Amino acid sequence: MALVVQKYGGTSVGSVERITAVAQKIKSFKDKGNQLVVSVSAMSGETNRMSALAREIQDTPSLREMDVLLTTGEQVTISLLAMALQQIGCDAISYTGAQVRITTDSQHGKARIQSIDDHRIKQSLSEGKVVVVAGFQGVDAAGHITTLGRGGSDTTAVALAAALGADECQIYTDVDGVYTTDPRIEPNARKMKSVSYEEMLEMASLGSKVLQIRSVEFASKYQVPLRVLSSMIDNPEGTLITSEENIVERALISGIAHNKDEAKLSLIGVPDEPGIAYKILKPISQANIEVDMIVQSVSAREGLTNFAFTVHRDDFDKAQGILQTVRDELGAMAVQSDNQVVKVSLVGIGMRSHAGIAAQMFEVLHQENINIQMISTSEIKISVVIDEKYLELAVRSLHSEFELDKE
Ligand code: ASP
Ligand code: MG
Repeated sequence: MALVVQKYGGTSVGSVERITAVAQKIKSFKDKGNQLVVSVSAMSGETNRMSALAREIQDTPSLREMDVLLTTGEQVTISLLAMALQQIGCDAISYTGAQVRITTDSQHGKARIQSIDDHRIKQSLSEGKVVVVAGFQGVDAAGHITTLGRGGSDTTAVALAAALGADECQIYTDVDGVYTTDPRIEPNARKMKSVSYEEMLEMASLGSKVLQIRSVEFASKYQVPLRVLSSMIDNPEGTLITSEENIVERALISGIAHNKDEAKLSLIGVPDEPGIAYKILKPISQANIEVDMIVQSVSAREGLTNFAFTVHRDDFDKAQGILQTVRDELGAMAVQSDNQVVKVSLVGIGMRSHAGIAAQMFEVLHQENINIQMISTSEIKISVVIDEKYLELAVRSLHSEFELDKE
């Protein structure tokens, strides 16, 4: 008998019909002799709908009240799912995060789980029930309701699996696994059988939006085997996210991620002296703007240098304004900005032991006449910033060069 934690996303519980279908699926797992803890999201669109309601009343509603509001979405789906299970003769009970006692810190809107009391869940499991737990929510030490950030139900499921020592955590969503790249860009993208936590973390942070990043961090930390599958089609395998040792198909490169939310800002002709990076980036960070890539060029003869970095496109205007002020203060020559750029990244643990991957990547881009504007690397990733009009071309030619379409 296995103990499995399953999570069903908003689309999978988006209507009464779908909830009924999910209940059937859960029952068939249970009938095979498994113990099941199921975590669900709100019905698709609900969290957004409620956020919009709040903003009709206040531009910036209190985060505490937002959490009280948004957690009702999951309270609806847990009760409906428990009813749907009971209706087909499968004993079930629902719990909110506070009822379980999923304790978090007090950062409303992006709280972190600190501990999970497994007492009630284990009691209900031992009574033969399917336990349905609201995703995305918890309660802080003082009893205030908190939420874990958008997409947080993934993290609830993984945290439950870790706390209960489950055999596997299965995330049922609207895609049937993790692909080598975005299938909307490259139709030959292939579903991976397995991928390491580390690679998945890179891909998630580079813009592959299959799972909330924090859920992958959690799974990696507690070594929870995590499987992504579709709730719509029958595919028992999906993609397994696991530790490196358990990966069977070892590829040099596992996937190509891309991020369209990039914008690039450069300060041209700044004096090359101590404190420059600090003076440029301090006001940016004070404005709560996150900086991704940073490049400072080697100083030219006149003791001047260029300094460039990328930010999220939403922060582009704000960052541009700040940089104009910085230019005046530092007596720099000019600000150059471009929000028509994207980031494309190769990810693979095989890179660690293989020289020459970067050169091979750059050769492909050269052959396609794609100019690389910025480069950054980590042990298992190479990212380039390029003009957004070349996104599809870059992804497709790299996908074929590294033979990601082949098993
Ligand atoms: N309902 C929340 C959201 O839409 C949490 C989740 O679905 O994971 O972000
Ligand atoms: Mg989701």
